Amino acid sequence: MKDLKINESAGIENVQCFLFDMDGTLYLGNDRLDGALELIELLKSQGKRVLYITNNSSKVAGEYVKKLAAMDITATVEDFFTSADAIVYMLNKIKPGAKLYVVGTPGFENFLTEKGFTLVKGYTRDPELVPDFVVLGFDTTLTYEKLRIMCDYLVDGVKYVATHPDMVCPAEGHRSVPDAGSFMLLIEGATGRRPEIIAGKPNPTMINILCEKLGYEKQDVAVVGDRLNTDIMSGINAGCKTVCVLTGETDRALLETSSVHPDYIFDSVKDIYEALSAH
Ligand SMILES: [Mg+2]
Repeated sequence: MKDLKINESAGIENVQCFLFDMDGTLYLGNDRLDGALELIELLKSQGKRVLYITNNSSKVAGEYVKKLAAMDITATVEDFFTSADAIVYMLNKIKPGAKLYVVGTPGFENFLTEKGFTLVKGYTRDPELVPDFVVLGFDTTLTYEKLRIMCDYLVDGVKYVATHPDMVCPAEGHRSVPDAGSFMLLIEGATGRRPEIIAGKPNPTMINILCEKLGYEKQDVAVVGDRLNTDIMSGINAGCKTVCVLTGETDRALLETSSVHPDYIFDSVKDIYEALSAH
């Protein structure tokens, strides 16, 4: 049996920038988790930077500002970085202004249009109009028609990228809300194709971009999240500190058997708050 050091906080007070996952870490669905507001206010009062990184590409930053505001957490659009931002960054490196067939929400589609990409609607074989990429996001407006068209393009050999690999979106009552990773399995079953790029966590791209933009050294940054395979692995892949909370996907039993080892484990953000209050 592993010796899990739960709620041990030595050294966490030295972290200067906290990158919070949201679902399962700060809230579940629309319910703020105990201690979330207190922790964020404490960190800000201590002069720490608080940012939010999420794999969920069904909402854009403005929508997250509103979602957090409804839970009394004040934030601005600059405080958020989503897997949609990461996929834009990566697509821009390959082909700025590319033509995209998007399986995503209207918010995600608008975001890509604003970033200078051209959205292809429907299926075409016209070489002038065929998309450069099929982009899969967390599409809460998914239809059978979109799946059909996406599969047609993949069978034709169009490049395939995705925002994030999460199988389910956390929800109250341990319900399973299918997320982009589950869609990927369906599409793989139909076409044999997997995305060539997955932009969100565990890919460290979001963390790398933020550290570069804000000038933080990796050892001064901590990722706080509830998932070992995405949140914690993204921190490990980026080379920063990792903090796992047990209010979402991960529990003690999973930690006992997992090969992923966070630097810190707390029962909840409330326990991080209590640890940091002492400093
Ligand atoms: Mg989460």
